[in-house]
Amino acid sequence: MPNAAGVAAFSMCTLHEDGTGNSFTMISPQNGDACPSSQEPAARMSTSPPIATAPSLRKSAVTTVAQWFDSDAAILPDGPRADRIDWLRVVPFIGMHLACLGVIWVGVSWAAVVVAAALYTLRMFALTGFYHRYFSHKAFKTSRATQFVFALIGASCVQRGPLWWAAHHRNHHRHADTEMDIHSPIRHGFVWSHLGWFLTPRGFRTDWESIPDLRRFPELRLLDRFDIAMPVALAVGLFFFGRWLQDAHPALGTSGAQMLIWGFFISTVVLFHASVTINSLAHRFGSRRYDTADGSRNNWLLALITFGEGWHNNHHHFPGAARQGFCWWELDMTYYLLRAMSACGLVWDLKPVPAGLRRTR
Ligand SMILES: [Zn+2]
Ligand SMILES: [Zn+2]
Repeated sequence: MPNAAGVAAFSMCTLHEDGTGNSFTMISPQNGDACPSSQEPAARMSTSPPIATAPSLRKSAVTTVAQWFDSDAAILPDGPRADRIDWLRVVPFIGMHLACLGVIWVGVSWAAVVVAAALYTLRMFALTGFYHRYFSHKAFKTSRATQFVFALIGASCVQRGPLWWAAHHRNHHRHADTEMDIHSPIRHGFVWSHLGWFLTPRGFRTDWESIPDLRRFPELRLLDRFDIAMPVALAVGLFFFGRWLQDAHPALGTSGAQMLIWGFFISTVVLFHASVTINSLAHRFGSRRYDTADGSRNNWLLALITFGEGWHNNHHHFPGAARQGFCWWELDMTYYLLRAMSACGLVWDLKPVPAGLRRTR
């Protein structure tokens, strides 16, 4: 965890963002000088796990298993090993997929399917509205409480915490479709961009220098460190909810195990594969309204399943906007829900698309 000196030094800096949420300048309010280079506070603030060059096999296995529960427990290799899939660490990810086969034994009921669909909807919005448009791009403002509530919901998606997610996503925009973009399908292929890149030690790391505005929240750092907690809480809650329904409303035909398989495993796996299509497919398939420096595309089908994220060429053209469907007919469910939250006062200052930027070049 960051030390007190690091937090104090960092808190003296005011953050200015560039409108896209991708780059920041730190200015000291006392003298107006630029703070020490982003390297220095980042090093003091860093909660990145230590890097080891040659841990023993047993020690490496123990720490890898510890990583299932505590992200800070890692000893991450450097060099070429950093880009190889860490099969032991990703056992839970593989297990989550295999658990979907449990449907063969637990069967199906309308109650379980409705819960799975509702959790897909809520959690997709937490990813698109908050992990992406809020944490990664600062496309609107909200209270610390609302920020934390949606960070908790987002963490239940098994896509780790908001800090890890936002740091990687900001780097994606910074280096989109160059060699430094670790999930570019153009550079690294479909499979790697879809589900390979985050299974490696390099993908596991959080680039703390990319998120100076987010790392100052201790509750978010804690959530990122123990990112397993919310998925486990959701899975356990669904199991007992299903058992309660079985006893209280037997006509629904559900059970604890069925609710666990549908509500958690199937819903989460579908949610995962739908959301990462934006990495793997939305840079390959679709139309290009804007001549951006990357391969981003607009794809209506992906926009449909990801609540508006499929208008990805629009998004790369102007990442700072709260909406990604720039035209009225470009369905953007996330934006409509954000507008509804804005009407309730839960979020505000939704950034529009500047009129001049809507036009094609
Ligand atoms: Zn992209
Ligand atoms: Zn983005």
